[in-house]
Order: sequence, then structure tokens, then C-alpha cells
Amino acid sequence: MGFFKMAGTAFTNLFRKPATLMYPVRPAKRFPNSRGTLTIEFEKCILCGICQKKCPSYAIEVDKTEKTWKIDRIRCISCGSCTDWCPKKCLHLDNPYTAPVTSEFKDTTREQHTGA
Ligand code: SF4
Ligand code: SF4
Repeated sequence: MGFFKMAGTAFTNLFRKPATLMYPVRPAKRFPNSRGTLTIEFEKCILCGICQKKCPSYAIEVDKTEKTWKIDRIRCISCGSCTDWCPKKCLHLDNPYTAPVTSEFKDTTREQHTGA
């Protein structure tokens, strides 16, 4: 019984359109309500450190002495807490297209504050 059911499914699928997407030949669909990736407008940041304190996953590091603002993207869960609390409204959750990569890597991108 199981064999016939499986054979039937396999036969039917021969005449169906592929269930997979032609990514990256065709860009992956992005959903308008997804929260996306955290971005910062460095020039507006005053290095107050509130985003670091309000981040539940300890993804942000702010060093006022070194004048740096860093994020560990592996830790970020796109919760939006930092964007809500930032007094300068310089943090945003955007939904940009992310280009595919050809080798395995961990996104531990850390961004340097370049403002004063
Ligand atoms: S809360 Fe905003 S202004 Fe303060 S350190 Fe974070 S990004 Fe900069
Ligand atoms: S979006 Fe949430 S998890 Fe990501 S850095 Fe901001 S507070 Fe942390």
C-alpha cells in the first residue's frame, strides 16, 4: 500500500512544476512584514549605550572611549528592542536583498562607529 502511494506521488510529481525556487538566478521572495537586518546611521549615534543595555541577546557592544559601535549578527534576533529605545532613532530594521555566497561563513560582521 505504501509503495503504491509513494509511486503515485512520484508519478504525479513528474508533471508538476518544481517546488523549489531558481535561487539565485531568480532573487528569493522577500516578505514585507519580516523584520530584516539591523542597520545604523553612524553619524547620528551619540554612543549612549542604551541599545546595548536593551538588547536581550547581548549582540551590541558600545565603547564610548574607543568610539565604537559593534554588532554580532549571529546573536541578533531582530527583535527591534534597540530600535525602539535608541534616543536618536538611528537604528533601523531593514529588509535588504542579501546576495548569495559560494562558501560557508559565519556572519560575525562588526561595524565600526566612524562619527565623533
Ligand atoms: S542607543 Fe542609539 S544613540 Fe545610543 S549608542 Fe545605541 S545606536 Fe547610538
Ligand atoms: S534587534 Fe534585538 S537582538 Fe538585534 S541588536 Fe537590536 S535589541 Fe539586540
